[in-house]
Amino acid sequence: MEASARVIRGIPASPGLGVGPLVRLPRRVAPPADEPAPATLEDGLAEVAAALEQVAQGMEARAEGATEAAKAVMRAGALIARDPDLADLVRDRIAEGLGVTSAVAAAADSFAAQLESLGGLMAERAADVRDVRDRAVARLLGQPESGVPRLGWPFVLTADEVSPAEAATLDPALCLAIVTTGGGPTSHTAILAAQLGIPAVVGARGIETAPERVTVAVDGGRGEVEIDPSPARLEQLRTREDARKRALEGFSGRGATKDGHPVPLLANLGALAEAVRLGAWDVEGVGLFRTEFLFMDRDRAPSVGEQEAIYRRLFNGIGGLPVTVRTLDAGSDKPLRFADLGLEDNPALGQRGIRTAGKFGSLLDDQLAALAQAAERTGADVRVMAPMVATEAEAEWFAGRARARGLERVGVMVETPAAALMAGRILRQVDFISIGSNDLAQYTMAADRLRPELAGLLDPWQPAVLQLIGLAAEAAGSTGKPVGLCGEAGGDPALALVLIGLGVTSLSMAPPKIASVRAALASHDLRHCRDLAGAALAAPTPAAAKQAVLDAAAPILAALT
Ligand code: PEP
Ligand code: MG
Repeated sequence: MEASARVIRGIPASPGLGVGPLVRLPRRVAPPADEPAPATLEDGLAEVAAALEQVAQGMEARAEGATEAAKAVMRAGALIARDPDLADLVRDRIAEGLGVTSAVAAAADSFAAQLESLGGLMAERAADVRDVRDRAVARLLGQPESGVPRLGWPFVLTADEVSPAEAATLDPALCLAIVTTGGGPTSHTAILAAQLGIPAVVGARGIETAPERVTVAVDGGRGEVEIDPSPARLEQLRTREDARKRALEGFSGRGATKDGHPVPLLANLGALAEAVRLGAWDVEGVGLFRTEFLFMDRDRAPSVGEQEAIYRRLFNGIGGLPVTVRTLDAGSDKPLRFADLGLEDNPALGQRGIRTAGKFGSLLDDQLAALAQAAERTGADVRVMAPMVATEAEAEWFAGRARARGLERVGVMVETPAAALMAGRILRQVDFISIGSNDLAQYTMAADRLRPELAGLLDPWQPAVLQLIGLAAEAAGSTGKPVGLCGEAGGDPALALVLIGLGVTSLSMAPPKIASVRAALASHDLRHCRDLAGAALAAPTPAAAKQAVLDAAAPILAALT
């Protein structure tokens, strides 16, 4: 990469290269602080009703000629804008003395909160309610509605986050790429962008200071955004992207090495909406469903019934494919308000993952009961696993509780060096292990995974991390039990070869990464993967390990990475 271009690294969300001028999504307009109350309640109601009707009509107009996904979102928005319950809430707020925009905002917020408390499908409407709120507030203030700009020329969109409604209205012919500062690899933005074939990078901190309309090159597969690249650099990037696309042609179906050794390629998910879109990804199942993501906004723990309904929708949504559900991984970088043990000096080393189970009444047992009931009612092929296990005793305790509820296939994640070293003993208690390379790198290298400046230490190509993965895989191999890997490392096509060579039996990753991994595996036989693993283990640094693999791999690999 040329030193002159500024490069921002984020999370790869949707593969592909997009080059164009950077355009910022207008920030949402907030109600003014000292807004006067309307002259009369009736005046206020009439003003709000007119604004909401304009919003509804605007959304209906946008639905015309839009994609199916966008149509559904826009029509849902129009229904919300005309919802009599929302109008009643607005009436109450104006009667309390609020100005019109403050009344709409407060009414929509409590409407959204009500929907969230109902859970399931209803809770997913909350984001649409907030979108309608922002559009109505903008209308009332005489400003343009928030939403993707209609510029008539191609651009790269940047924002803190892109709402589902906004993402659904993106036109792939004009929106060349998306870069957000917020969001994760399985956020709505990421999923919708990938479905539309729009390259996207999320979690790209630093893009907010890039000047408006500067040319940016977004590599969604690598998670890189280059600001103002030179013409020569652009040429390089385009050549690389053409080669990547050509390399992917002709590979589909089940994951396997060239000599037919099967390697199930699975998806990491964290939202129900993603499950129903799995068909688009050509995957063999879900290797990690992060349940904590379902409940991040909750103050109170979801009940067994509510959880069961959610899990049933998940299992039905993935249409009979096997699914591995992880029990709540609360704490540290994924705090849950209803499972919070208070401030800690070192939260990543504190009460998180399985360490919090048993500390919040029946939280774990409720989740296991809900999963077991949902599995039984849907007939789904469900496995459960616990996060952040460090000892054989924890694995035994978890397996006992899960089996007592009728869940037959039970596993644990290997995310701590202790668990990797003790994998053989842990496997006496459980049916499978799944390596969480994100946390395994954090704990092996004693480097906070949230600190971008420690990215070099967190690199899963670090020899120490590879050694531990190798140890855990070897231990599993001697028991004949499966050892999956579900950290981000599995989505790197070169590293995927090494992992399979080390003895990992399945790979789970953000869905956009699967195509490249499938192509890489299909181009190398198992023996070759083992040789590549040996070369990586023998290298002194992460960079040397990757280079050694690229040097010894089939030429297609260079195009895929
Ligand atoms: C991991 O640690 O690698 C993992 C898959 O879990 P999470 O990223 O959710 O901590
Ligand atoms: Mg983890």
